[in-house]
Amino acid sequence: MTEKIDRFINQASRPTPFLVVDLDVVAERYESLRRQLPAAEVFYAVKANPAPEVISLLIELGASFDVASPAEIELTLRLGADPATLSYGNTIKKQADIAAAFQRGVELFAFDSAEELAKLARAAPGSKVFCRLLVDNQGAEWPLSRKFGCERRMARDLLLQARDLGLLPYGVAFHVGSQQMDPGQWDGAVAQAAALFRDLEGRGVELAMVNVGGGFPARYADPIAGIDTYAQGVQGAMTRHFGNRLPCTVVEPGRYIVGDAGVLQAEVVLISRKSYDDQVRWIYLDVGRFNGLAETEGEAIRYPLRTPHDGGAAGPVILAGPTCDSVDTLYENAGYRMPMALAIGDRVQILATGAYTTTYSTVGFNGFDPLPAYYI
Ligand SMILES: *Cc1c(COP(=O)(O)O)cnc(C)c1O
Repeated sequence: MTEKIDRFINQASRPTPFLVVDLDVVAERYESLRRQLPAAEVFYAVKANPAPEVISLLIELGASFDVASPAEIELTLRLGADPATLSYGNTIKKQADIAAAFQRGVELFAFDSAEELAKLARAAPGSKVFCRLLVDNQGAEWPLSRKFGCERRMARDLLLQARDLGLLPYGVAFHVGSQQMDPGQWDGAVAQAAALFRDLEGRGVELAMVNVGGGFPARYADPIAGIDTYAQGVQGAMTRHFGNRLPCTVVEPGRYIVGDAGVLQAEVVLISRKSYDDQVRWIYLDVGRFNGLAETEGEAIRYPLRTPHDGGAAGPVILAGPTCDSVDTLYENAGYRMPMALAIGDRVQILATGAYTTTYSTVGFNGFDPLPAYYI
């Protein structure tokens, strides 16, 4: 919670729920990552928060962008991004969308299969391509599972094939999983990337780039290591495995840049119990799984909460959203406690909600609108 957000929330009574994002925090996060990893290029992962205010600010600060869809490409270009600063990082693209991106000047594309590579050769001839490696996502609170990437031997063959197809085999990417709690997790992935570089060098292909992905955490319920520790984790792994022949390093932060910049203002709609001797209160808020808090799925992301009664006696609660779907239960097993004095109508602040909230919602399930947001 910044002073600016605090003032914004208190100066007027706006209908809830809404998100407010402090752009100073976004800028400060971007700059601190630049400072900590001076040799790396920062590609902001647009999906984390695609608000034009955020994108424009990051363009101004000199960021590049990881985009995943025609709409994300149009958005960044419309706001003034240079197409040469875009990385079409989704490994799942329609050929027509690849062609459209290529026409618009996008030069850098991801793949993780022979089939996708064939589309790139047809629709984006001569472009720079990088292969996503399948890596361990241990330690990540929001893992990306086996959906993306391929194993190293396949990556090697595909990058050779890329050359034979008239593309420019440019590098390797991976993602160690979102909200990665262990700064040591980059080591194994960078080791794989370095082995792939050597393997290909022996076959006449010199790669240029290692994209170490995102995964840098926001501050939720559990404490996290500082960004300096993460930077050391990444930089240390790069020098350990590449020695003094460092390739161009790319980072793709999403959550780290915008997560802590946002506060969600919500209201308590109902407090009830299921029986006369029930020790646990059910707290129903006007925001839930379907209008902004999708990442409470599996209780994976545990947001810190603030209430007007913090510091007083507290008791166990189950937190739920306002819709008529039981999936819209936020936290049942995560051990949340809230003040006994909490009352219907109280305002509750949900912290660190700047990432993966505003667009990560239904269009209006049960009549509840997507989350309105203010950028200040
Ligand atoms: C979502 C995504 C990111 C951002 O991940 P964070 O964990 O939010 O930093 C980076 N790269 C790719 C390819 C992604 O899909």
